[in-house]
This record gives sequence, structure tokens and C-alpha cells, in this order.
Amino acid sequence: MTDYVIKQPVQASLPIRGSDQQFPVRRVYCVGRNYAAHTIEMGGDPDREVPFFFQKNPDNLLTGGADFPYPVKSNDVHHEIEMVVALQAGGTDISLESALDCVWGYGVALDMTRRDLQGECKKAGRPWEIGKAFEKSAPASELVPASEIGHPTDGEIWLKVNGEKRQQGDLNHMIWKVAEMISYLSGLFELAPGDIILSGTPSGVGPVERGDVLEGHIDGVGDLHCKVV
Ligand code: MN
Repeated sequence: MTDYVIKQPVQASLPIRGSDQQFPVRRVYCVGRNYAAHTIEMGGDPDREVPFFFQKNPDNLLTGGADFPYPVKSNDVHHEIEMVVALQAGGTDISLESALDCVWGYGVALDMTRRDLQGECKKAGRPWEIGKAFEKSAPASELVPASEIGHPTDGEIWLKVNGEKRQQGDLNHMIWKVAEMISYLSGLFELAPGDIILSGTPSGVGPVERGDVLEGHIDGVGDLHCKVV
């Protein structure tokens, strides 16, 4: 066993529905602008832009229905409901045909965003980390194995805030389908077991306030519950 000079950091992980086991998380990739209606609401043109990637940190994941603490340095924190794709295998230049073999399972997550800080980054041509990769910025549900639910290609994805539906879309509206995001991403990075991908948000993103109750859902995948405090 390696003898570390400081206490070993905790391995980030996601719970699994109906199991005591956990899914260990190595990296968290996120797809930006993967739904045309969201691209338009963000001022973009889906006919001229392709989706892209950014990353959050594995220890940004917030699990077990824990409260989401309103983050520091922001007055405009937005919800983005997304499907989680969890990988059991990786590699480089993965073909479209074999991409789904890499998937262990699926889940529901929020890509919480300090929109004001992200906007400043965009304006200045700077990276998005301070807008996206902050503490507890990725509340996530339990994962469900593909061996149980298959590979969802359509079905509603929605988010309610205090019982009112704010975001709504369908998985079949994703510009990059799951196999495409894995194949494309594996051309840029070496993917590995434990990597997860947040696959982009449908339209309807907006600000949250302390006290808001967030409920997310994806047909056939699961539900997410989280309170802003
Ligand atoms: Mn997002």
C-alpha cells in the first residue's frame, strides 16, 4: 500500500439504486448546448454551433438528496437538469458502434451554474471553472444499471421548482446522442471506467433561491430531489 504524506482524499462516488455498492467517479465531463431550445435561450444558434465539453470536479457531486448550499460569490445561480451517463469502460477513439458498451448505467443530475460568473468568463474569453466547477455544484441521483433499464433514447426529462415545471425536454432532442458524445469525447481525452458525462440540459434554465425545492425526473431513469439552503 502506498504511504501518502497526507491523509488520502476521499474517493468520489455515486450511490446505486437498490444496492449497497457505490459507483466510483474518476472524472466528470459535461456537454454544453446539447439541446437546440437551450442553445437558443442562451443566445446561440443551434444551426451554426456544435455541442462542446467542459468539466466539473468529482468531489463537486452532491448525493443522497443532500441540501444544495447556495454558493458564495454569486447572485444568479441557475438549475440545469441533465442525464448522467456512467462509464464502466473507456479508451480513445471509441467507435460509434461500440460506444454504448462502455456505459454502466444512467442517472439524473443538476449542473448548477453561477450564471453571473460564467457570463463574466464568456465575456472575457476565460475558462468556465468558477461558474461551473464549484463546491456541491452537481447534485446527483442514484445510478441505475443499463443491464436493468437498457439505453434510454427518448423519454421526458424535466425539472420542477417548488412543484412548478420549469424545464422540460425529451432525451430524443439531444443533438449528440449518448454514443456520439462518448465517441467524440474519446477523441479528445482517454476515457476510463468511473468517468461520468452530464449530457446537457433542455430549455427553461433559471435562477434558484434559498428555500427552493428542486425535483428532477427522467423517464425510465429516475428522480432527483434537492433543496436549496
Ligand atoms: Mn449543463
